[in-house]
Amino acid sequence: MAKYPFSREARDFVEEHFDLGIAELTEPEHLEAVERGFQRVHQSITHKEVLFEAQNMIHYDVEVVSFPIAVMLVALINDDLLRNMFATAEAKRCAQLMAQNGKEVLDVARELDLSFRTATEAGAEGLLAIRLADYLSCSPHRWGESWRLVSRTLNKGEVYVTDHELARIIEERIKKAVLDRTRANVEGVRLPPSITKKRDELVDVWKEYKAKIQPEARLDQRDMPPCMTRLVQRMTEGENLSHVERRTAVSYLSTIGKTEEEIMSLLRYSPDFDERVARYQLEHLMGVRGRGKKYLPPSCAKMRTYGLCFPDKWCRGIRHPLRYRRAS
Ligand code: SF4
Repeated sequence: MAKYPFSREARDFVEEHFDLGIAELTEPEHLEAVERGFQRVHQSITHKEVLFEAQNMIHYDVEVVSFPIAVMLVALINDDLLRNMFATAEAKRCAQLMAQNGKEVLDVARELDLSFRTATEAGAEGLLAIRLADYLSCSPHRWGESWRLVSRTLNKGEVYVTDHELARIIEERIKKAVLDRTRANVEGVRLPPSITKKRDELVDVWKEYKAKIQPEARLDQRDMPPCMTRLVQRMTEGENLSHVERRTAVSYLSTIGKTEEEIMSLLRYSPDFDERVARYQLEHLMGVRGRGKKYLPPSCAKMRTYGLCFPDKWCRGIRHPLRYRRAS
C-alpha cells in the first residue's frame, strides 16, 4: 500500500482506518501525512521524481494517507503541466519499485485491471500475452516502430510483450490513473489555514519553476504544419512525448532554424526533463555531436505511420512537413 498508494487496497485502508475530511487534516496525528503529501508534490517539481526510502515503508500509514493529500494539493493548484509532472513522477517511483521486485509487477498490473497471461503458444515462449484493448489504451504505437501493431504478433485479441514491455505499459497506466485523480473538481472547497499555507508554498515553488522554463523566444508557429504545431503544443502542456515524437519535433525545429536554446526551452517543459541528457540528445540530433549528421524530420508518409499526421487544407499534395506553406 505504501509503495502503490493508488491501489484499491490503499484506498480501502484509508477509508477504514481514518475518518478523513479536509478539516481533520489539521489534527496533530495527520501533520506528518500532510508534510509528506506536500513533499511528494515538491519533489515532483524539483527532482522530477517522488523519492521513496526505507522509512516510508516503516511509516506506511503516513505514506498511504499522504498520497490523496498530494493529489488534492495538485488539484488545487490546477495546472496541467504540474498534473503531468506529478503523475509522471509518481509513475516513475512505482516503476523503480517494480524493477526492484519483479513479483510486484504482476500484482500492480492486476490492480490496474490489466489482463495478461503467460504465453504458452509455440514461438511465444517466455512472453506475456496482453489484451489488445489494454495494449492500445496506452498508445504504445507512439513510442516507436517496435510498438506499432504491424510490428507485433496479434493472436486472438491478444498481443505478445516481454516483461520489460509490460512494465513500461504499467508505468503508463499508473500515470493515467494518477492523472485522472488530480482532475477532481476541488472548486469551492473550503480549506483550513494550515492547508492553504501548504498550497500557497507550493504555488510559489511552482511559479518559480515555471518562470525558469518559459521559452526565451516565443516560437512563431504561423508557418508550421499542424502535425508540428500539435507536438509543440503537447510539449508546452507538459506531456511526456515519446522518443519518436520528441525526435520528430526537435529535428523539425532545428531544420527550420530554431536555436539550441530555443529548443531547450521547450524541452524543459517535459515532466522528466534532465538538462544534461536533453542537451546531449539535442546536440546529437542537430549534428553538433557524434558524426556531425543533422537529422531531418520524417516525411508525411512516415508521419502517417507514426499516427502523427493531422492534415489541414494546406497539406494537400505535400510529401514533407518542410514543404508546408500556408497561402497568404
Ligand atoms: S500532411 Fe504532412 S505536413 Fe501535413 S500534417 Fe500530415 S505530416 Fe504534417
